[in-house]
Amino acid sequence: MAVYRETKSCRTIVARLDYHADLLAEMTELCQRENIRLGRISGIGALTHAKLGFYHQENRQYQTLAIDHPVEILSLLGNVSIKDGLPFVHAHLVLGNERGQAFGGHLMAGTIVFAAEVQIEELAGPEFTRRHDDQTGLTLWQL
Ligand code: ZN
Repeated sequence: MAVYRETKSCRTIVARLDYHADLLAEMTELCQRENIRLGRISGIGALTHAKLGFYHQENRQYQTLAIDHPVEILSLLGNVSIKDGLPFVHAHLVLGNERGQAFGGHLMAGTIVFAAEVQIEELAGPEFTRRHDDQTGLTLWQL
């Protein structure tokens, strides 16, 4: 059975991120500055570079895929919860190239903004805290 809790939407931060900012760091800093401890993230934009992760379930390690050319952010989706006592952003990206081809993965540090418009919706309610999960090797929500 899934672990779950009911929450309510309280406010939405709408932001244009800085040119050449690190996408993950900038969203994390925004959540920490605004004390958003539970939330969901969406956005669109463009990147000069990207670093995506793919989690190999067998050996429990992230493989990093470096994209060293401009791409569109077709979809940025993520959430905010608590890890080590601080707001933590977990997000995935679907990116597109000049031929209309899409690819994507787990957002990692080193993903550099050309332009980005994001919404961070704060949810009220109990905190969702991430802790190590033995079954998957990931840091998952413990409720
Ligand atoms: Zn992920």
